[in-house]
Order: sequence, then structure tokens, then C-alpha cells
Amino acid sequence: MKRIGILTSGGDAPGMNAAVRAVARKAMHEGLEVYGINYGYAGLVAGDIFKMDPITVGDKIQRGGTFLYSARYPEFAQVEGQLKGIEQLNKFGIEALVVIGGDGSYHGALRLTEHGYNAIGLPGTIDNDIPFTDQTIGFDTAVNTVLESIDRIRDTAASHERTFVVEVMGRGAGDIALWAGVAGGAQDIIIPERDFDVKAVAEKLRASREHGQKHAIIVLAEGVMHADEFSEKLSEYGDFHLRSTVLGHVVRGGSPTASDRVLASRLGSKAVELLLEGKGGVALGIEKNEIIAHDMLDLFNHKHHAMLDLYDLNEDLAY
Ligand code: ADP
Repeated sequence: MKRIGILTSGGDAPGMNAAVRAVARKAMHEGLEVYGINYGYAGLVAGDIFKMDPITVGDKIQRGGTFLYSARYPEFAQVEGQLKGIEQLNKFGIEALVVIGGDGSYHGALRLTEHGYNAIGLPGTIDNDIPFTDQTIGFDTAVNTVLESIDRIRDTAASHERTFVVEVMGRGAGDIALWAGVAGGAQDIIIPERDFDVKAVAEKLRASREHGQKHAIIVLAEGVMHADEFSEKLSEYGDFHLRSTVLGHVVRGGSPTASDRVLASRLGSKAVELLLEGKGGVALGIEKNEIIAHDMLDLFNHKHHAMLDLYDLNEDLAY
């Protein structure tokens, strides 16, 4: 094998650039030529492909987003789209690929492997919603960004004795809400993985106000409902001086944390090692601090599980 390609696909996440850098530098270190593919599978099909050198990935490790851009390209689910992509791979002499993205992107990688072009997936998403990895690239940064916002919101919440409902990203997963909620000392964390009862949330709020805790933060995962809707339901049970805030895409951006950069570097390097061994159709993850490869087909049959013991822990710590 002489040439590999790299692309980022699906939702962007901080640390994707660090992963691209690691793949590129490790591959060059091993004597491979590396091609960057812009705009995910859309760019692959369009032939938006360029040769990288060590400097291409210089000054990128600290940058959020993805300098290779990302795009949604549903046409890649059809064989016709895949064959067009393969035409471009052949044109550029690219024999194998690293795909950084979520499980949608992994489907594309598996299709390419089935066509004879080994592709390896790295978990790049802030949502942490991918099976077989304790954390995804971008998750730690997103949690820390939410946490910084919660700390700021708490200042104003305390000053005016308000209750804030803070809605955070995460698609169908509650991981960001859970981690940021525990770290931010939330009164309550509302996530899709756990049923909730607005009346019980209100009763807890009332009790804690009676005990002297005059402000509160409730972290709400976007997969449950909108913050305004939740606040409206809550206000039916009393006047808690409610305000709601939607953090939105702010949570996607920013410089990756050390943890995300190190994770991205480890995953990227391992991907190149496995491609050199002729492996493809696998997704990498970190489990108990070890980088592990799993068959993509196996991964598609599993569901990600949020760390629900954090939910129970928060119940014990909230006052
Ligand atoms: P994520 O990778 O974050 O889950 P998406 O689900 O949007 O994000 O997938 C990203 C891209 O991966 C899609 O725009 C498409 O190009 C490709 N993709 C998604 N599903 C498939 C599939 N079943 N087969 C081939 N390619 C797919």
C-alpha cells in the first residue's frame, strides 16, 4: 500500500483536525503518501482531493471544526454514488481510507471496504453516541464548553435567585447533559434515557428553595424537548423564577481539550497501523484506556449506552 486518503463526515467535532493530523503524520512517518478529501463523501465523489504534506496539517491540532470541511451526502448510500467515489479513488491511486465521523459515516466506510478499499472509522462526534467507545472525539470539549456556560449562568441565577433550564446538544443521547450536569452541580438532569416527571422536578425545586437554595440549574438534553416547552410545563407547578437558555451550536465549536487531542492522536495513529496490516471495515474506540478495533457490522448491531450511574449520582448530590 502506497497511498491513503482521509475525510471527515457528518457533524463536525473539536478534535477532528487533531485526528486528521495524526493520521497524516503517522502515515508519512511510515512512508505512505496521504491525500486529503474535502467535504466528506460529497468531495470524494466530486474528486475534491489533494495531496498532503507534513505542513498541510501544521498549526491544526488546536483548531476546532474540521479544515477538511464536512458535508451530508445521502447519495453515498446508493451503489451508484459509491462507484463514483471509487472511480475517484482509482484516479488518485488511493488504496485505503480513514473516515472520521459518526455511525452514518461508518456505513459509507463499510461499503468502500466491501468494494475492496479498506476503510477504518474513527468516532468523531460531540454526542458520544457511538457504541464500543467510552468517549468520542469532541465529547470532552463539548462537555467543558457546556460547563463553562453553566458556571456563567449560575452567577446570574444566584444573583436573581432564578431557576435556569439549560438545553444542550446531544441529538438522541444524554451524555453531554449528564456529564456537564454532574460537573456543573445541576439540580436536575433531564435526558432521553430516563423517564422524568415534571411534577417531581417541581417538588424537588420547591423543597430545595425551602431549605435555602434559592437558585437552580436544570440541564436538559435536546433529545427530550425544547427548553421553553420544559419551562412552560414546570411553571404549571409553581413560580420558580424560570429562565431558559439554549446553548446550541456554541457547544460544537472551540479548541479541543487535551483529552480530545490525545484521544484523536492515539486513534489516528492506530488507524494507520491497522491499514498497514491490511485491515478495513473496522471502527476504533477507546475502552478502559485501550484503543480497540471493532467490526463495523458488529457495531451497527449494538446501541450506545450512556453512563446512567452518573444520573443516580446526581440525584444523590443535588440538594
Ligand atoms: P454521522 O456520520 O455523524 O452519523 P450522517 O448520518 O449524516 O452523520 O452521515 C454522514 C454521511 O455518511 C452521509 O451524508 C452519507 O454521505 C454517509 N452515509 C450515511 N449513511 C450511509 C449509508 N447507509 N451508506 C453509505 N453512506 C452513508
